[in-house]
Amino acid sequence: MRLWHKVTLALILGIIFGIYMPNYAEQVKPIGDIFLRLIKMIINPLIFFSLVSGITSMSDPSSLGRIGIKSTAIFLVTTCFAVLFGIGTAYIMQPGVGLVIDFGMHNDFTKAPSFNLLEFFVNIIPSNALGALASDNILPVVFFAIFTGITINKMGSSANSLRSFFHTMSKMVLKMISMIIVLSPYGAFALTAWMVGTQGLEVLLSLSKLVAAMTVAMLFQYLVFGLLILIFCQMSPMTFYRKSLEYQIIAISTGSSKASLSTTMKVCTDNLGISDTSTSFVLPLGASINMDGTAIKLGLAALFVAQVMGMELSMMDYFVMILTSTIGSIGAAGIPGAFMVMLPMVLSSINLPIEAVALFAGVDRLLDLLSTTINITGDATITLIVDNSEGNLDKDKYYS
Ligand code: ASP
Repeated sequence: MRLWHKVTLALILGIIFGIYMPNYAEQVKPIGDIFLRLIKMIINPLIFFSLVSGITSMSDPSSLGRIGIKSTAIFLVTTCFAVLFGIGTAYIMQPGVGLVIDFGMHNDFTKAPSFNLLEFFVNIIPSNALGALASDNILPVVFFAIFTGITINKMGSSANSLRSFFHTMSKMVLKMISMIIVLSPYGAFALTAWMVGTQGLEVLLSLSKLVAAMTVAMLFQYLVFGLLILIFCQMSPMTFYRKSLEYQIIAISTGSSKASLSTTMKVCTDNLGISDTSTSFVLPLGASINMDGTAIKLGLAALFVAQVMGMELSMMDYFVMILTSTIGSIGAAGIPGAFMVMLPMVLSSINLPIEAVALFAGVDRLLDLLSTTINITGDATITLIVDNSEGNLDKDKYYS
């Protein structure tokens, strides 16, 4: 049985277990926690070594800047679209209007420390490279990896041994991930059983309009990916959608786009015909900074809270919301619940109470299934588009 078949089976068994044996949900949770810890353990080395190896193995290092800028620009554009879909869907479907929810706040609600754009950019540069590798913040890791890769390229042939060292390390980390991923059916079973057992389907029902709005926005984004492939690659997106199922099921079951990265890499090179260079540079870059599903959740959640509170938002508020949601999704970690860490920043940027985050705690594990899938599919889409624009895409393999 192939891994994704096992994961699908585990998901179904997890749902059944959660429904019929909710009292045992807490007992199975540690299995899920162990699985998630194994993934978290490997995120920083994975991003660092894949990026350095991707940059140093480029056949034409001078193309690095072009590919980097092109990919980042597309990542940003699709993320802005995602936020707009999120906000637009909330604006039209009005999931928060008429809802009476006690956010448990006092008259003087709590504000997160105010967001500072300049500080955000300054903090991308780590003050301690080794400290950055050990922290949970991924952007300084990306910065240091790119800097290391560029430096090795500038050293020319004298750094050949370093090049092969990073290449081997990146292979080693991918091997580690593929060993961890073998455990994903157990992780998926435990996490699903726990989610269904502790939160039940009632949470979903009480916030059904919110969940419906999120689903519609994500669906739009999913269609946009296909449209982009059609427009920029002039290829059928159906093949892409079909072949993407293999890594999407890992995203759905783990709620972590980073955990699905190694499977996505395999699908990109082996099934979609994307070159090794793009797969090892554009894809990990995307997994670090491009999270369209999370961006949708941030924009939509902020407007939802404003609607519940009956707050009128100005044009400026909308602008700030788009900006902070985009930045929040860039800084999110690619693990379950990353959205919840970023939401306070978006809420406080337009003077909404951060207590509202608690409201999403119940539904986020469910929304995460969708957003993680959108996140990693967005990365694969853009890697495909960039690879095609560089003339590297193997179209025969894509259609095979
Ligand atoms: N779980 C998501 C991911 O790993 C991030 C989030 O939306 O919380 O991509």
